[in-house]
Amino acid sequence: MTDKIMIIEDEEDIVTLLRYNLEKEGFETCVATEGDKAFNAIKINQPTLILLDWMLPGMSGIDICKQVRYDNDLRNVPIIMLTARGEETDKIKGLTIGADDYMTKPFSVPELIARIRALLRRIQPVKTKGELVFEDIKMDLATCRVFRGSRVVHLGPTEFRLLQFLMEQPRHVFPREQLLKEVWGADIHVELRTVDVHIRRLRKAMNEGGEPDLIRTVRAAGYSIDSQQPDTAQEDENTEE
Ligand code: CA
Repeated sequence: MTDKIMIIEDEEDIVTLLRYNLEKEGFETCVATEGDKAFNAIKINQPTLILLDWMLPGMSGIDICKQVRYDNDLRNVPIIMLTARGEETDKIKGLTIGADDYMTKPFSVPELIARIRALLRRIQPVKTKGELVFEDIKMDLATCRVFRGSRVVHLGPTEFRLLQFLMEQPRHVFPREQLLKEVWGADIHVELRTVDVHIRRLRKAMNEGGEPDLIRTVRAAGYSIDSQQPDTAQEDENTEE
């Protein structure tokens, strides 16, 4: 089956450039140019991955991203944010609200395509069967659903994969380097603190109902899923909302 990439972008030349290059690479494409019509277009087109511009007429890319993450059918669709802004705070903000990756305009098309392929590979292992359970956390791998007790937890694909990886070996502490390699893939360059951003997002979603924090931060060592938290240190999560 051909992967369908949805381009949500109001700048015509960028749409043309992306369409041409993605189709040349064998992807199917679809386009939305207005923010307020984008969500509906996503629902209709059911894309495999979304390229989402930050600044759009009608509704911002951030709000569209949030809508996608709260939609039961769409919450696992990977999103790459495209933006003209270059500040680090925006990058972190983009990741915090639910995007899986981020590219600043003007971007290199080969790099964007490499990131698309990396993301598509990243969501692949999620399509396995089975169930992972730790304390009150349950991951249904077949339907990609996550529960805390009876509460449904809304996770993006990167957080899902991260949680799955931690849940496969509870209490084992994984260094951030290893999480990057296993969850993101070794072939693209991602900063180490991207792991912290996604852990922070995962922790927020997991504890939203006031449940105890089961994600353990081991200072200078990494992260694990654990009910014992003797040396939890969250000071490395210094990013602001
Ligand atoms: Ca724009």
